[in-house]
Amino acid sequence: MSKTISILGSTGSIGRQTLDVAEQLGLQVAALTAHSSVDRMEEQVRRFHPRLAVMTNEAAARDLAVRLADMDTRVCGGFDALKEAATIPEADTVVTAVVGMVGLRPTLAAIREKKRIALANKETLVCAGQLVMDAAEASGAEIVPVDSEHSAIFQCLQGCADRREIKRLILTCSGGPFYGMTYGEVGKMTKADALKHPNWKMGPKITVDCATLMNKGLEVIEAMRLYRLPLEQVSVVVHRQSIIHSLVEFRDGAVLAQLGTPDMRLPIRYAMTYPNRGENPAEPLDLLTCPPLTFSAPDRGAFPCLRLAEEAALEGGTACAVLNGANEEAVRLFLADRIGFHDIPRLVAEARAAVPVCPNPTLEEILAADAAARRSVLEKSQL
Ligand code: NDP
Ligand code: MG
Repeated sequence: MSKTISILGSTGSIGRQTLDVAEQLGLQVAALTAHSSVDRMEEQVRRFHPRLAVMTNEAAARDLAVRLADMDTRVCGGFDALKEAATIPEADTVVTAVVGMVGLRPTLAAIREKKRIALANKETLVCAGQLVMDAAEASGAEIVPVDSEHSAIFQCLQGCADRREIKRLILTCSGGPFYGMTYGEVGKMTKADALKHPNWKMGPKITVDCATLMNKGLEVIEAMRLYRLPLEQVSVVVHRQSIIHSLVEFRDGAVLAQLGTPDMRLPIRYAMTYPNRGENPAEPLDLLTCPPLTFSAPDRGAFPCLRLAEEAALEGGTACAVLNGANEEAVRLFLADRIGFHDIPRLVAEARAAVPVCPNPTLEEILAADAAARRSVLEKSQL
């Protein structure tokens, strides 16, 4: 059970919900980080009194330091300070809720300090899953997933001592806002359409990833890394209601699932209380009034990002870092109204074709592959 936490990305969707849970559970907060949301950070520091507040944007850090002159919270600026928040001695748990592979180095630093990692930042595992899991095994740091599907699997696997008993993991997928459309229809969708998720309220990057189904592709890779399973043992099923958060099928034919209302505070809370469970003030799941549960196969023709992710997962090495770096850059351009919806899979596929894959990469090779993928997207988006 966590007692004192540090949150990387406290002003975001996961970060704010983590603070709600921390308040409910009476946890101490040692450090908070954000990029540039100064108003929100000031409010959080006044409410939770962390020892350290980090703004990765230097100008925002200077602004925050002036505003917090009456507090004894230390304010730091810049990307290196993320590592300080991740390794602060007072925290036993680090919640990785930043968006993007910027979370990789601080996560590795926290693992080396044997912190519990409440892991929301999936991009880290997609790019460098092998390195992260090996580092955790070496230091003995626990990694408890926050992503709802992976938390569901983690919960279903409690009591499973031998991973060879797993036949396959079944990740559920809401289908996103464009479910049921053809490839042609999806291509006409705008940024405003993509930002309307049917079941979850999340940050803009992951919301776009849900619309392209890249999010599910990233989650397939995340599951492969977390549970050290090959692609053929991780499948995806569309389940529009987001009530079943994922399932595990065992060798003997038993299938275990975790159900709950679509509320991220439940997996966040479990990452804090694991291996225990406590009272939760949230609305309980009522099976008699919830909608009928339905299942269908994902449409990889209408949503090529899922297939692109599976291909990268099969290839291994730096292929997933290229996929992720290209996707981060393409989604950034889409959110800036500089490219259309179908340009996202196009630019990702072009980056994958342009950047050679390196097997068994070091951290430096992963960072180089990420940078090369981003360069490819920037060049090809201007053609
Ligand atoms: P948000 O965009 O809502 O929040 C991102 C957080 O990271 C903010 O605190 C933001 O600060 C900070 N941040 C943004 N860019 C940078 C940067 N370059 N360097 C350092 N900090 C940065 O994202 P979400 O909370 O939605 O998602 C966070 C992570 O959790 C993602 O990896 C996502 O895939 C994963 N996740 C999210 C779920 C959800 O329900 N939201 C569900 C499952 C997984 P600022 O506010 O100053 O910009
Ligand atoms: Mg998820």
